[in-house]
Amino acid sequence: MIQDEEDSFRDRISTVNEDGKRVWIYPKKPKGWFYKQRKRVSYLLLLMLFAFPHIKINGEQLLLFNIIDRKFVLFGKVFWPQDMFLFALAIIIGLIFIILFTIIFGRLFCGWVCPQTIFMEMVFRRIEYWIEGDWTHQRRLDNAPWTGEKILKKTAKHTIFWLISFLIANTFLAYIIGSDALWAIQTDPFGTHLSGLISLVIFTTVFYLVFARLREQVCTTICPYGRLQGVLLDKDSMVVAYDHKRGENRAKFKKGEDREAAGKGDCVDCYQCVHVCPTGIDIRNGTQLECINCTACIDACDSIMEGVGLEKGLIRFVSENGIQNRTRFQWTKRVKSYTFLLIAMLAVLVTLLVTRKDFETNIIRQRGTTYQMTNDGMVSNIFEVNLLNKTRKTFNIHLELEEDAEGIIVMAVDTIHLKAEAQINERFIIKLPLKSIENGNKDLKVIVLGNGEEIQKVSTKFIGPSL
Ligand code: SF4
Ligand code: SF4
Repeated sequence: MIQDEEDSFRDRISTVNEDGKRVWIYPKKPKGWFYKQRKRVSYLLLLMLFAFPHIKINGEQLLLFNIIDRKFVLFGKVFWPQDMFLFALAIIIGLIFIILFTIIFGRLFCGWVCPQTIFMEMVFRRIEYWIEGDWTHQRRLDNAPWTGEKILKKTAKHTIFWLISFLIANTFLAYIIGSDALWAIQTDPFGTHLSGLISLVIFTTVFYLVFARLREQVCTTICPYGRLQGVLLDKDSMVVAYDHKRGENRAKFKKGEDREAAGKGDCVDCYQCVHVCPTGIDIRNGTQLECINCTACIDACDSIMEGVGLEKGLIRFVSENGIQNRTRFQWTKRVKSYTFLLIAMLAVLVTLLVTRKDFETNIIRQRGTTYQMTNDGMVSNIFEVNLLNKTRKTFNIHLELEEDAEGIIVMAVDTIHLKAEAQINERFIIKLPLKSIENGNKDLKVIVLGNGEEIQKVSTKFIGPSL
């Protein structure tokens, strides 16, 4: 229910009207120092996004998230299902980082780094400005009847939107199935990879609808990260904020007027900060969940302040405590605790990554078997070996007992051929002289030789009669 005119913005989000219908946002084209920096950051990130799937390290894609084959590659390092605990740890660390970053910097990630905003504001929106003109022209064009000019502009815009969506869909797929598999889909005869082609069409359609129709709704109502702001932000979080102490009482600008003497604040009520906002909010109402910290309103307000001869920074990157008490960024207990936790978990992850092995060998006695006495007075056990090769090299594997074990290994095959990035199970027998077994068992070490060189030493237990 509406409390009063000032609080009416709380009744509904800015993109919904009184009848519950969508209000289409026509943001004014931003310009200014922050916008220039955002463009630079965006171009760099876009370059990285499109280039990464085509960069290879030791034959592996720089980044790969192949959920289908459960193969993940980070900076050329392959991670297998056996390494999933590392991934789980990395995800937890990522979450803690996001929480810490949000506590300190609010939703800055959304406005400056998030692919949704970068594509929307720096690619699709700019094409729209280029074809349809600035916000007033766009609105006029949408309200105008379907003339030849309108059909031409709309067709050109949506065709380009579709083509870019197709490019994004290809890149997205390259991160999932790999750039080589994608190349095969693109170049093999039509119909050879029907499921791949269908995925491409589906992803293209989804991206097109997101950027042509859904737009800011992704950030204001769908994205779960946006919903978290309410619990993550506090009065010390740095956010894009309107300095209400300085800005109020807002009043129109009158040339030559002494605003201070007239009891007026610095806000000249020009609405430029509202016009440029891609989520359609008025930042003067305070921090709102819809604000993606894109800083467009800072540029707009700074340019007005410059024009009317007032100090810039009426809207700036500042905390609520910064506005109220003029304090700078505070290392609060909350920030310190999350920082400590993040560093500690990062240290664990780095240690695990550094000590992570390229091979994994498991040797266990075959289930359901016991020892056997052989005719030559030896005791034998049947073992199973599981070998996992995480490298891109093929290995001829031999197994040996440590020198002082006095026994022999009898393999089911002469040599185990272990292919690159593969795992294999084999069986073998270990024979030990009866006299070497004490108290019914013996700890053994099996040496795994790959192409003649020791690659691992694995412990296992041998059982025999209790003498
Ligand atoms: S209020 Fe300002 S920073 Fe927030 S989304 Fe709107 S223009 Fe961007
Ligand atoms: S741009 Fe600045 S001066 Fe203009 S309405 Fe917004 S806060 Fe006030």
